Amino acid sequence: PDETQVTSARDPRAADGGSALELHPHAARRWTPKRVLVTPAALDEPHGQRIVARVEALGIEVERLRANRLVGLRGETERETYARAKSTLAVVVSPPSRRRLQPISPSADWRVDLAEGCPAHCQYCYLAGSLSGPPVTRVYADLDAILDNLTAYLGTGQVTSRSTRRSQEGTTFEASCYSDPLALDHLTGSWQRAVEHFGAWDAPVQLRWTTKFADVDRFVALPHAGRTRVRFSVNCLPVTQRWEGGTSTLEQRLAALRRLALAGYPVGLTIAPIMPIDGWREHYDHLLDLVETATADVPDLDLTAELITHRFTATSKEVLLGWYPRTTLEMDEAERAVKRGKFGATKHVYPKPVMDDLRQWFRRELEQRLPACRVLYWT
Ligand code: SF4
Repeated sequence: PDETQVTSARDPRAADGGSALELHPHAARRWTPKRVLVTPAALDEPHGQRIVARVEALGIEVERLRANRLVGLRGETERETYARAKSTLAVVVSPPSRRRLQPISPSADWRVDLAEGCPAHCQYCYLAGSLSGPPVTRVYADLDAILDNLTAYLGTGQVTSRSTRRSQEGTTFEASCYSDPLALDHLTGSWQRAVEHFGAWDAPVQLRWTTKFADVDRFVALPHAGRTRVRFSVNCLPVTQRWEGGTSTLEQRLAALRRLALAGYPVGLTIAPIMPIDGWREHYDHLLDLVETATADVPDLDLTAELITHRFTATSKEVLLGWYPRTTLEMDEAERAVKRGKFGATKHVYPKPVMDDLRQWFRRELEQRLPACRVLYWT
């Protein structure tokens, strides 16, 4: 994959394994798309105009399309299609079906999408099995209507009302199911607006998202009112360095977590995808050392953890092997157990003894080393 369009102060694949956590608060990694398209319908929306102005102010040309359909995204080969799509940003209006929100247990009560697609290159990416077509990043111009629509859902939802550990969060909305917010917000400002929207609400409610980026400068001083929980998706260094191309480094993500926590945001760790690679205890032990350092001395720290083991489906495996044919990521059905989902979908997860081992280790270590951290779920 072409990762050259993502720039940062440091190469995320640099060999910094084992080093002490250095905090680089301003070393944010920012994506510069090669091509930006905007549809006529998106240009009719005030937020579509804001995105275009923001992108042009960054010196990036915006192509104004004549029709609302995106065409010409495919290349001659699968690889070329992938490379083209991953370097393209399309400003569009969201599909009308997105106004009927879907529950998204166990992460949150409801899923709210402000974008679809992500410019990074994680070789296990969960979007591979969920989205169809070339992986273009689409950002939604009808943000104002998307946010207004949420009012109807206040006081509803199963996840937070049933869980005593989460009832104080109010109704929760997950805004990163199909995208990575901090990979895109410098181009759209959508998540900044969402933080302010939730901050202005006088109701028990929470906006949540998870990210592998660290570009938090614009969020630190926002009036968030503690109603946005930003979780950073983290992993042990061998996983993050081998398989998470185009993202911010682990140390940058943890420095960003610290900055937001010091600015009064509730924060979280999405430890995912957990993999029992050789020496996993030692590698995850090091990860928890880095988290301990990053959260040390934060007054009134509100920290959660969501623990997600690696899994794949037949579809995601096929798509990922098309995108990353030489990947070293283990996706061997013979090494896995089968888990059937609600709608008959079959996932390949780790066998029970491996899961039990991982789960017990994380539970024990988190309890001992990060006693303030609330574990929301394990899957
Ligand atoms: Fe996929 Fe998340 Fe990686 Fe983006 S950051 S490529 S959405 S796993």
